[in-house]
Amino acid sequence: MNKKYNRRKIIYFMYIIYDDFYLKHQNAPDHPENADRLTAIKEALNNWKFKDKIAIKKPRPATDRQVEMVHDKNYIQKIKNLSRMGGLSYLDSDTAVTKYTYDCALLAAGGCFVGLDLIFSKGTKFDKFFAAIRPPGHHAFKGAGSGFCIFNNIALTARYAQGNFGVERIAILDFDAHHGNGTQEIFYDDNSIFYISFHQYPHYPGSGYYDEIGRGKGEGFNLNFPFMPYTRDPDYLTAMIDIIIPIMERFDPGLILVSAGYDSHFSDSLSSLGLVEESYYKIMYIISYLSYKHCQGRTGILLEGGYEYNSTAKSVLETIRGCFNKGDFPDINNSIDLENKLEIDESFKIQKVKNMEILNSIREIFKV
Ligand SMILES: [Zn+2]
Repeated sequence: MNKKYNRRKIIYFMYIIYDDFYLKHQNAPDHPENADRLTAIKEALNNWKFKDKIAIKKPRPATDRQVEMVHDKNYIQKIKNLSRMGGLSYLDSDTAVTKYTYDCALLAAGGCFVGLDLIFSKGTKFDKFFAAIRPPGHHAFKGAGSGFCIFNNIALTARYAQGNFGVERIAILDFDAHHGNGTQEIFYDDNSIFYISFHQYPHYPGSGYYDEIGRGKGEGFNLNFPFMPYTRDPDYLTAMIDIIIPIMERFDPGLILVSAGYDSHFSDSLSSLGLVEESYYKIMYIISYLSYKHCQGRTGILLEGGYEYNSTAKSVLETIRGCFNKGDFPDINNSIDLENKLEIDESFKIQKVKNMEILNSIREIFKV
């Protein structure tokens, strides 16, 4: 018998970007954004029944030049200097820079670049990556860090995809419980990046109402879902199926990026939304479907918040599992097929959606 037929075929379904170096960044003492978050995710992945479907890849640091795609030179230099000084310096009341912050922030952004290099490489079998990185990024502005964030990883990832792989239009979906004010600001007048955020409102950082829809050329390319406390997944799924799918039909992204924050889980102490682990599976199922329709499955998922370690780790697994359903998608022709696959029943939208008025206003603004 020919030897090659004996070889066990290993099929990976997803790249995970991870390195223990990410544990080194320290915020202030007793801060919720700490290394235990990633340790919990790492352990959960190691013990996972689907761990043969993932391939863990090492990051490389971004260069200062690459970080300048989004951030001001002076700001990058400031982070570098504060880190090199050691000690504890504050960017705002809850964001500190310590000895390894600068190097970890470079490695966080660079890890996402590695993810893109992998999914855009010729002949790759895997079209998605999950970047288990820290510090997070979506509250980082062009010239300032805030809200535990140093460099805006997702904004940098989007610019890297445009610069290196010629991707014209990119959709960013952000399901962290907090509005990604940094990401919104960076792309507010840009029609090549469509930023969509689900978040608790009103809540930190204060921005993210649905009338913030972009400016100038970017008008109509920024979409906020400001959800009331205790909102559960019927609102997310209704918004995804009834609003985001038709909008993406018009936008036709060449890549989807996800700001994956698990502080939207009901157990999180920093927010009061009501998602459960399986919610992330369903959300990711729909995102995978969108990526199948528009961009050959290409999706990068970046860790943002999530401060209840156990539920964050389990929710990460559900997020990844939501990416394993490619085989279903050729059978899905319309939103009813999609709802059937996700076992969403008829009554659910009418009975369980909490933010119907907000969703209706958004439908009107975006004409869907
Ligand atoms: Zn958050």
